[in-house]
Amino acid sequence: MSLSSREIRLKSRPLGAPTADNFELAEVTVSDPGPGEVQVKNQWMTVDPYMRGRMSDRKSYVPPFQIGEALQGGAIGEVVASNAPGFAPGDTVSSMFGWREAFNAPAAALQKLDTRGLPPQAFLGVAGMTGLTAYVGLIKIAALKPGDVVFVSAAAGAVGSVVCQIAKLHGHTVIGSAGGAEKVAFLKHIGVDAAIDYKAEPDLTAALAKAAPNGIDVYFDNVGGDHLNAALAVANKSARFALCGMISQYNSATGPVGPSNLILAVGKCLRLEGFIVSNHFDLMPDYLDHLAGWIKAGQIKWNESVEDGIERAPAAFLKLFSGENMGKMLVKLG
Ligand code: NDP
Repeated sequence: MSLSSREIRLKSRPLGAPTADNFELAEVTVSDPGPGEVQVKNQWMTVDPYMRGRMSDRKSYVPPFQIGEALQGGAIGEVVASNAPGFAPGDTVSSMFGWREAFNAPAAALQKLDTRGLPPQAFLGVAGMTGLTAYVGLIKIAALKPGDVVFVSAAAGAVGSVVCQIAKLHGHTVIGSAGGAEKVAFLKHIGVDAAIDYKAEPDLTAALAKAAPNGIDVYFDNVGGDHLNAALAVANKSARFALCGMISQYNSATGPVGPSNLILAVGKCLRLEGFIVSNHFDLMPDYLDHLAGWIKAGQIKWNESVEDGIERAPAAFLKLFSGENMGKMLVKLG
């Protein structure tokens, strides 16, 4: 059957911080699915900081979004019609056809979801890309070792809050940094040993040195900028830095700025390693097995910030940069 679907398109490329004017809402008709195609109505979509990079016209690990075209990103939906074997109406599927209410896609572009008793939107967060990012960055990239003191920035966010909890579950001392009293309270609630409200600290390096009197051995970087500077200053010899993201730099109109004290990496023999989660999807089954155990034992918590309706998707995205999200930022479509 043909359906009407609203979608969010990129209207113009942001220069510096994105605004609502960079997006437009459009309505399209989704025709009957063709041979081998499946028709899906989205129920949830995710907005993620990496999408900011795709809004600029530059070469990266994912191609840029095109002006006038619907944006893309993770989504969970329900099959409403199928011309493909293996998919039937009522199936829950995940796809990269976010930022729209409905679509047709070849079966190969969809994954049937076994929700394992979790709410489906968890697969856009703690049981999906952001949860796996936390696991990969901490266990594989930072190669967590007994006794490590772990520092996490954007610690109350989708990735950061899972990093903090996985590190605690492994018995580590964890220091989290986030903006504002509510986020600091959440960090304490999930068991971090010290929480820094970086927006209230005139000197982040001093605040980190106070929170970690014996230095840090692992830094999980979600923010870059001052946080990376502070981590370099307070790092112990042979500390490992998992460079996951540097959101403080994404909206810089003049280009990203590196840490002024990077030279410390030489004398302290630090290892700084960037990573992209999509290169580590082979670890998803392993992560989901661990996660199932932690959830069953009541050992892991997660938050969601939800905006309602496709027209709210740009606002949801902008909240990532103003820090108005607590945990995974999602848009409910169904
Ligand atoms: P979050 O849920 O953490 O949301 C973003 C948070 O970043 C905001 O809530 C805000 O928290 C913080 N923030 C925004 N601007 C600034 C700033 N200028 N300075 C300091 N903090 C800021 O998002 P995600 O968990 O989805 O992503 C976290 C990081 O992980 C991002 O850098 C992202 O790009 C990266 N990432 C990398 C992946 C990879 O494969 N390498 C995969 C997924 C995510 P606060 O209120 O505390 O400031």
